[in-house]
Amino acid sequence: MRIVVPIKQVPEIAEVKIDPETKTLIRAGVPSIVNPFDEFAVEEAIKIKEKFGGEVVVITMGPPQALDAIRKCLAMGADRALHLCDRAFAGADTWATAYALAEAIKTLEPYDLIIAGKQAIDGDTAQVGPEIAEILGIPQITYAIKVEISEDQKRISVRRETDEGYEVVECKLPALITAIKGLNEPRLPSLMAIMKARQKEVKTLTAEELGGEQDQYGLPGSPTQVVEIFTPEARTGGVKIDGTEDPAGAAKQLIDWLLKKGVLP
Ligand SMILES: Cc1cc2nc3c(=O)[nH]c(=O)nc-3n(C[C@H](O)[C@H](O)[C@H](O)COP(=O)(O)OP(=O)(O)OC[C@H]3O[C@@H](n4cnc5c(N)ncnc54)[C@H](O)[C@@H]3O)c2cc1C
Repeated sequence: MRIVVPIKQVPEIAEVKIDPETKTLIRAGVPSIVNPFDEFAVEEAIKIKEKFGGEVVVITMGPPQALDAIRKCLAMGADRALHLCDRAFAGADTWATAYALAEAIKTLEPYDLIIAGKQAIDGDTAQVGPEIAEILGIPQITYAIKVEISEDQKRISVRRETDEGYEVVECKLPALITAIKGLNEPRLPSLMAIMKARQKEVKTLTAEELGGEQDQYGLPGSPTQVVEIFTPEARTGGVKIDGTEDPAGAAKQLIDWLLKKGVLP
């Protein structure tokens, strides 16, 4: 089986800071990691490969330093990687990101399965995986918590998490699924595996080398535009009502306040 895993390098801290002048993320001095949901995706891909044979190819679209994230996935056990790295990809919204990744995945045909993370912990949109499936015209099953491939490797059955509980969805391959926490326990690469990962193939592609519609990449190919980006103001303290000395007075004060806020009819 050929399993493709799109992975994203993200800043390590949850608290992303924004430059008020340029209105972009401040990345300088912030350590980067593989998006945690993508580690579940890579682990699942490796487990499936260990059972059925084949190869795991990771793809990332990102700046030169995204190579560190690629190396981590290769050390976990992925076989090779594609790195889409070009100024022409910069400024991409989720659609232009998915378009570039889908074009890269097309170069890997025939593929059997694509496993993306549920969402990236910086962008947080959870759009890229489903958009790739839409562009490629293949079925998608999101929020996978358990995955089973049929013995003939033609179908996939996924237990997926929903707001209400779980449901099991089955479809034919090739398909795209998105991975959530709990799907597996991502392995920690050994020192030997980290050394070996340096020998594995990483193919870097510019937009021109990738082919496709060049005006669909990066900012020109992005249908959405960021109008404004800002850090929300810190919340000020709320109203404090102390009923120690005068409980009845405090209760009245609370009711008045709730009435004023429109919480009570
Ligand atoms: C108008 C606009 C301009 C933007 N400009 C920039 C910019 O200049 N620089 C910038 O860094 N960001 C920019 N962004 C943010 C960028 O669009 C998103 O980071 C990116 O499209 C992925 O979206 P997400 O982070 O919400 O991923 P999600 O949709 O939450 O990610 C889901 C999964 O998709 C896969 N995935 C997501 N991104 C990638 C990737 N790059 N490579 C491989 N797999 C991936 C992973 O498997 C991931 O788990 C811009 C966004 C907008 C709307």
